[in-house]
Amino acid sequence: MINVAILGATGSIGTSTLDVIARQSERFCVYALTANTNVERLYSQCVQFLPVYAIMVDHDSAEQLAQKLQANTDTQGIKVLSGAAALDTIASSPEVDYVMAAIVGAAGLNSSLAAARTGKRILLANKESLVISGALFMQAIKENNAVLLPIDSEHNAIFQSMPAQLMSSNSASSDQMGSLHHFGVEKILLTASGGPFLNRSLDELSNVTPDQACAHPNWEMGRKISVDSATMMNKGLEVIEASWLFNATADDIQVVIHPESVIHSMVSYNDGSVLAQLGNPDMRTPIAHAMAWPERMTSGVAQLDIFQVAQLNFKAPDFDRFVCLRLAYDALRLGGTAPAILNAANEIAVQAFLNESIAFTQIAHIVEQTMEALTVQTADTMNRVLEADQQARDIARKLVSDRL
Ligand code: NAD
Ligand code: MG
Repeated sequence: MINVAILGATGSIGTSTLDVIARQSERFCVYALTANTNVERLYSQCVQFLPVYAIMVDHDSAEQLAQKLQANTDTQGIKVLSGAAALDTIASSPEVDYVMAAIVGAAGLNSSLAAARTGKRILLANKESLVISGALFMQAIKENNAVLLPIDSEHNAIFQSMPAQLMSSNSASSDQMGSLHHFGVEKILLTASGGPFLNRSLDELSNVTPDQACAHPNWEMGRKISVDSATMMNKGLEVIEASWLFNATADDIQVVIHPESVIHSMVSYNDGSVLAQLGNPDMRTPIAHAMAWPERMTSGVAQLDIFQVAQLNFKAPDFDRFVCLRLAYDALRLGGTAPAILNAANEIAVQAFLNESIAFTQIAHIVEQTMEALTVQTADTMNRVLEADQQARDIARKLVSDRL
């Protein structure tokens, strides 16, 4: 039995992971489930999966959960922990084999790193970890022989389309990744749906509501990543994520708007071949792939009906419409702490938009102005990275309050 810890169990990726595990119960055992504040959902997950540990970052929520678990004879034995440090304890527990890193935002950084430092198989949904501290994260993976498998659908598709000899030895962190071009790879074609506002007039964008921004045409996701998809910051974060996972430069990665979300990404080779991974837009496919790798297992996702799809469309992204995508490419080219600054400013701006404190179009302005206000440093220690993250949050918060 493989013991799995699911960090961010109550979220969109967390629940999809549990759905896959429920179909594979002879193979995987849920060792720990974690959440921030959603007591009801974590409780019902505990009843179904009977983990050894249940963790809630929020102390009051943990208290409520403990009472509910105590009141049920089936769940009385589940140990409840609280606080952010408990996430790191669980992610590095010797009992745990696989860690699903599915917390949203920078809040997922420490636990992802803890899993890397203790040599786990990391199923990485929390792209922000790589964006904030990619160099340090990849170093921790290598030094501790951790196995890093991407859950983000595009990166999972790229992983599946990369040369087998690069990917078979270990994982996305393989040392051989030094030479994409050596293996004949010309370009990574990172697909993007374009989100709900792909064809909306630019004038209308300043008035869109959080619910409109979160109504993604193809994917059901948490609210933060849904807003990121609408601004295409999500694709920008994914460009940075891909650069670390596949040791690629900004010039190696071409974003392709593909509104159907059927091709999840492609790799183009020097002999003219283009390899792609296709499937219905359902995160259970990349989750099952990463959990079973290098084998395959069923995920509950229906087979793609290619005749029903019938048509696939592609176009180049418009950087004037999707300013956040341009800013992310800028941050990747600048390197050092620039991606951490981009990410932190974006987290503050997106939260402010979701709270209806700023307009949708101001998200990009706040990120851009925060980037302009800070000098990029080298990102060679975690202190430097976290300092940049904190400074960017302070500046972005000030920019938000100036607009109120
Ligand atoms: P979500 O908002 O649905 O869930 C977030 C989870 O994180 C919840 O379990 C919540 O309890 C937990 N959480 C929130 N704040 C926390 C905090 N401060 N400390 C500890 N835990 C906290 O998010 P999601 O859509 O499942 O996304 C999770 C991650 O996966 C994100 O990094 C996102 O970019 C990535 N991702 C998601 C999808 C998707 O389809 N949803 C696809 C690709 C990548
Ligand atoms: Mg994605």
